Amino acid sequence: MKRIGVLTSGGDAPGMNACLRAVVRTAIYHNLEVVGIYRGYEGMIDGDFLKMDRHSVSNIIQRGGTILKTSRSPRFRTEEGRQTAYNRLKEAGVEGLVVIGGDGSYAGAQAFYHQTKMPIVGVPGTIDNDLYGTDYTIGYDTALNTAVDAIDKIRNTADSHNRLFIVEVMGRDAGFIALNTGIAGGAEAVLIPETPTYIDQIITKLETGWRHHKTSSIIIVAEGDDSGGAMEVKDKINEKFTEYDTRVVILGHVQRGGIPSCKDRVMASRLGHAAVETLMEGLTNLAVGLKNNKIVHTSFTKATKLHQEMDLTMFELVEILSG
Ligand code: ADP
Repeated sequence: MKRIGVLTSGGDAPGMNACLRAVVRTAIYHNLEVVGIYRGYEGMIDGDFLKMDRHSVSNIIQRGGTILKTSRSPRFRTEEGRQTAYNRLKEAGVEGLVVIGGDGSYAGAQAFYHQTKMPIVGVPGTIDNDLYGTDYTIGYDTALNTAVDAIDKIRNTADSHNRLFIVEVMGRDAGFIALNTGIAGGAEAVLIPETPTYIDQIITKLETGWRHHKTSSIIIVAEGDDSGGAMEVKDKINEKFTEYDTRVVILGHVQRGGIPSCKDRVMASRLGHAAVETLMEGLTNLAVGLKNNKIVHTSFTKATKLHQEMDLTMFELVEILSG
């Protein structure tokens, strides 16, 4: 293998740049050439490529987002789109690929491999931490810290005004961000897609807190919770309980931005490095990950079918610690 391609795909995550830097520098270290592919699979279909050298990734380890840009590509879901992408890669002399993204990007990589047999290795880059085959995904730690920082600030104002804040955090399919920010931010309740939500129990808890002169409360809702989101939770609570002035905060896309944390940068560097070495070993159709602080490989088939398991004792911890 002489030349590899690298792209970032799907939802952006802080630390993708650190990973890209590691991919480029590791490849150059092993005398491989690197082609950067812009805008994920869309750029692959359009042949939107740039030859990268070690300076192409200078000064990006600390930058959020992705300098290669990312996209969602409906065209790549078609056989024709993937064939065009393959032709473009062949014209550019690309013989292997590193895809940094979430489970959708892995599914795309798998379809691409089955159709073209292009060697391909995935790297887990998503703030949601919902990928099987790794303990943590790139961007998750930074997103958590952003959310906790916001909750600390909300707590200040909640306390000053005797308010109940209902804070919606990201997580369409997984409650990892909600549960961990809930514990770290001292939330009274956390609503996540993995468990059924009982609004009446939350109201009972709020009433007890109110009777015990609790001056403020914070409830964290994952956007994919079965309750329908923070606005719906507010309406349902206020139907029966109106003691607190209730406010909703939807953190939204701020959770995707920001300077990547040290943990994300180190992990991104290790995983980017491992992805290139994995390709060089001739392994393909799989993702690299970190389990118990060791690099592991997981087939795309497993990584797209299975989900990271949540430790639900953490959920009980919220109940116990919030009193
Ligand atoms: P993420 O990687 O963050 O989960 P998406 O779910 O949007 O993001 O997936 C990124 C892209 O991967 C999609 O826009 C699409 O181009 C490609 N993709 C996802 N699933 C498939 C599939 N089953 N077949 C082909 N391409 C897919």
